[in-house]
Formats: sequence, C-alpha cells, structure tokens
Amino acid sequence: MKDTFKHKGMRNKLADVVSSKGIRNKKVIDAIRTIPRHLFMDSGFEHHAYQDKPFPIAAEQTISQPYTVAFQTELLEVSPNDTILEIGTGSGYQTAVLLHLKAKVFTIERQLELFKKTNLFFKKMGYRPKKFVFGDGYKGMPEHAPFDGIIVTAGAPEVPKALLSQLKIGGRLVIPVGEDDQTMMRITRKSEKEFEREEFGSFRFVPLLEDKN
Ligand code: SAH
Repeated sequence: MKDTFKHKGMRNKLADVVSSKGIRNKKVIDAIRTIPRHLFMDSGFEHHAYQDKPFPIAAEQTISQPYTVAFQTELLEVSPNDTILEIGTGSGYQTAVLLHLKAKVFTIERQLELFKKTNLFFKKMGYRPKKFVFGDGYKGMPEHAPFDGIIVTAGAPEVPKALLSQLKIGGRLVIPVGEDDQTMMRITRKSEKEFEREEFGSFRFVPLLEDKN
C-alpha cells in the first residue's frame, strides 16, 4: 500500500475534524495530519482510515479513534526527549503519534499475534520506539522507570499501582478507568507520595487485561 495525495487530502480533513472537536495542541494536530493511518489497518479498509472512528484490527482489538488518540496525547503534555511508556501498543498508531512528538517511547503489548504484526510493521515503516516488548502492561517497565509520562490505551478497572510508582516527580499518567465505560483520568505525581487526580469525561476502550499467572 502507498501513501498518495488522495490520502493526504483525507488526512488534512481528519486533522481539521479533530481540531474542531477541541484539540488545541498544534503538534498533536500536525501528527494526525502527517501519520498515514490507513497503513496501520489491513488493506481493504482504507476508506475507513480517515473517518474519526475506532476500527477493528487483529486479535479482536481496535485502533483507537483519532480524536481519542489526540485527546490522550494532549493530556500527556509531551516535550521532545520525554520518556513515555505506552501500555497497549495495538496497531502502533498512538506510538507513531508519540514518536512524531519526538518522545522516547517504551511500549508494551500483551497480544502475541498483534505484537508480532506491529513489530514487523514498525521495522518496515522505520518507526523506532526505544523498546517494544511483549508482556503485561500492568507491571509497567520498572527497568526503564521513572517516566515523564505513561499512557494507557485500554480501559483499566482500576489504576495499576506499579504505574504510579514508575512516574517521575512531575510525571503524568493518562488512563481511562472503569469497567463498561471509562472516565479519562490524568494523575500527576506532585511529590514522592502526593498525586493529583483530574477527570476528563467518558470514553469507551477495549479492556486492559491482566495476566494472573
Ligand atoms: N494504541 C492502540 C490501541 C489498541 S487497543 C492503537 O491505537 O492501535 C488496546 C490494546 O491494549 C490492545 O492491543 C490490547 O491487546 C492491549 N492490552 C490489553 N491489556 C493489556 C496489558 N495488560 N498489557 C499490554 N497491552 C494490553
């Protein structure tokens, strides 16, 4: 598959839609305008790629809605060279947005099929996260902590404690919390023991699954 002028045109419109829904951060909008979302989906679904909607990918998972990706990324307040941990790599689209903002990205996916597929795709596209691992995101990545930001792209029944402990002072955790639908939360580490919690409305995500073994 290729990236054509037609795709670029559709992407410009998508960026305008996302912006009209209230996303202010120019670099985030620029990422939506630049990243070829249709290549993150199976061929044949190209016409769906530039609608502001989630879409099914492999292993019963979804590529998040562009507005949701933009919203979470804006809340994360990414600066160049920030170290960002992403839980739920999925198609890799959110990862590409973080890389576009020049973050150092560490990302975890627990579905083996999807992990393998996205790993090949990153190589093919030249997307270079610092680390892409197959594993359980509930545990975070203690060996690379602390992080400037942590983003969870699946609905968590509760906030995993391990993730809070892997934030720098001043670091942000952006996570949708809830069972059927989720409240978008941003938790900022104010000091070693103090965390500020903010809520940003209701969203729907596939569940964050825990490996109990
Ligand atoms: N950012 C992705 C969203 C994919 S949906 C995109 O835009 O494509 C959420 C992803 O989280 C799924 O791929 C799912 O397999 C993964 N996931 C669920 N529970 C997880 C866990 N405990 N650790 C890591 N990934 C998990």
